[in-house]
Amino acid sequence: MRLARFSLDGQVHNGVVESDRIHQLAGSFFDAVEKTGHSFSFAEVTLLTPVEPSKVICIGLNFKDHAAEIGQNPQDEPLMFFKPPSSLIATGEKIVIPPQTKKAELEVELALVVGKKAKNISEADAKSYILGYTIANDVTARDVQFSDLQWARSKGFDTFGPLGPWIETDFQPANKKLISRVNGEVRQSGNTQEMIASPEALIAYVSQNLTLFPGDVILTGSPAGISGFQSGDLVECEIEGIGTLSNPVA
Ligand code: MG
Repeated sequence: MRLARFSLDGQVHNGVVESDRIHQLAGSFFDAVEKTGHSFSFAEVTLLTPVEPSKVICIGLNFKDHAAEIGQNPQDEPLMFFKPPSSLIATGEKIVIPPQTKKAELEVELALVVGKKAKNISEADAKSYILGYTIANDVTARDVQFSDLQWARSKGFDTFGPLGPWIETDFQPANKKLISRVNGEVRQSGNTQEMIASPEALIAYVSQNLTLFPGDVILTGSPAGISGFQSGDLVECEIEGIGTLSNPVA
């Protein structure tokens, strides 16, 4: 099932995507899924980020080849950092490169969406806490990342968190392709098999450090091939079995 949030005539709704239509839901994703009977074409609505998380937790260096390309060693434990919810934008929205950076780069990542409150859960129980998966672009000001001791600024600029287009609840994370493109040209081509820690291991690890709430998002790390983009480009992140997150650059 594909769960999406959308706006129509200034109102925000939840929906289920079935082929080329979006069916309005009576409640939230975290209640029983109940259709109202109204459905719309994609042309009639504006897709929003599929959730409004209390926090976005990111995992750094979860692919060995990406750690190597930025000259870092993977840690013994997952490396956690945050992106602020204010950085999030939906598919179709514009990424704005701020004047503080000369090196904005893309990172396609599988994003796990938390389905219920999770604290100190085990990897064996993790599946029941996962609502589903979506796609994220962990946009990074690479020069600022290396000039600052912490990554709050380089990862946290407004619009540096494209997320969407929807949540796929049936997605199985093993052996799925992750691809990013700029203006149609492939920049990253990875596979979830290359992850050091699995999504289930990551939600368990994060929950042992802080409480996760429904709708919180965990970005599971980027494969190698990070590269830059510029004003006027079209940046796309695709994950096999979910879809494509597409953002023009202002
Ligand atoms: Mg990243």
